[in-house]
Amino acid sequence: MNTRRHFLQQLAATAVTIPFIPLSTLGCAPGKPGGDVMLRVALMGLGSYATRVAEAMKDCTRAKLVGAVSGTPSKLKDWQSKYGIPEKNCYNYDTYDQIKNNPDIDVVYITTPNALHHDGVLRVAAAGKHVICEKPMALNAKQGQEMVDACKKAGVKLLVGYRMHFEPKTLEVIQMRKDGEFGKILFFQGQCGFSIGDPTQWRLNKELAGGGSLMDIGIYAINGARYMTGEDPVWVTAQETKTNPEKFKEGVDETIQFQLGFPSGAVASCLSTYNMNNLDRFYLDGEKGFAEMQPSTGYGPIKGRTHKGALTQPHKTHQTIQMDAMAGIILANEKPPVPVDGEEAVKDLKIIDAIYKAVKEPHKIDLQL
Ligand code: NAD
Repeated sequence: MNTRRHFLQQLAATAVTIPFIPLSTLGCAPGKPGGDVMLRVALMGLGSYATRVAEAMKDCTRAKLVGAVSGTPSKLKDWQSKYGIPEKNCYNYDTYDQIKNNPDIDVVYITTPNALHHDGVLRVAAAGKHVICEKPMALNAKQGQEMVDACKKAGVKLLVGYRMHFEPKTLEVIQMRKDGEFGKILFFQGQCGFSIGDPTQWRLNKELAGGGSLMDIGIYAINGARYMTGEDPVWVTAQETKTNPEKFKEGVDETIQFQLGFPSGAVASCLSTYNMNNLDRFYLDGEKGFAEMQPSTGYGPIKGRTHKGALTQPHKTHQTIQMDAMAGIILANEKPPVPVDGEEAVKDLKIIDAIYKAVKEPHKIDLQL
């Protein structure tokens, strides 16, 4: 059996019974790219998405949850017992810079509200740890670039939680497009939205969310337009509609339609909304064929078909495959089929900036990514 696989399988098997293994005792170089080790992850912001990631990581073979950052002491206690996290790997928002002195954590995965990503990434980078940051990586492209620069300067990797970049049916469509099976790409449609509930949640607070539906769910159509067509847009137009200004206050968009133009001449027509359900659909059209996915970016199973028939790749929990793949990127410099680095996220943030500009200006906004 392949030595590396054998080692990882043994390690994974051992990790089931022993909550935490100091890798130094296994003769491994913790966190060193190329080291044959499990990626040791601390989650910051123990909310609903962090919980989903923590549960999914139980099935990871290359990544392991070992630490947590939270402002709520009782949550840290719960997570310690639920996930076998040692006390010494728990921090709050005042103390987490001390992670720099903790050799048992390789990466911090930031799952706080959007407005806190920038500060979190800068502080984790300054602590000399790799960072995974949730989408949207920042509130705007300027912040995003500062995060990329800070991580570069600190010599750490910055990855973004673009889980669809590892999803098997999505990757199949991308491969078909690369193989020319759709011919010249002409059109992409991305419809992303849901009807949002509780009006007091942070997602509807401009200070914490940085905007509205576009930051949260419309970003899937933006990012999807790029990985489905394989191009970066050169112009954008956009229109906003608001039916409930009481719930969706100034600076919090309810519904935005936007259009993107690509260098090849292909165009995209997208919808981002917090006010409609049943909207999770991608459509890609080319001269020789098409791909249709619905649901296209939810937690799955993703469903879809192309002009050749149904997409049949088996469903895998998105966060499990994402974290295993990210372990390979961080520890062994592996290259993902679609990039998930900070630069990738800055491109999406530039498009978001341009869409917000375009809803105020009734003409094409030029883009240079
Ligand atoms: P959530 O509200 O469930 O969790 C946020 C956590 O941050 C909570 O534990 C909260 O206590 C903590 N927090 C720390 N400081 C806070 C502050 N000042 N105000 C409010 N909360 C604070 O939110 P969530 O749904 O887990 O989303 C968190 C991040 O993850 C967001 O950036 C979101 O876009 C992203 N997300 C990504 C996906 C995905 O599929 N990739 C899915 C859901 C959420």
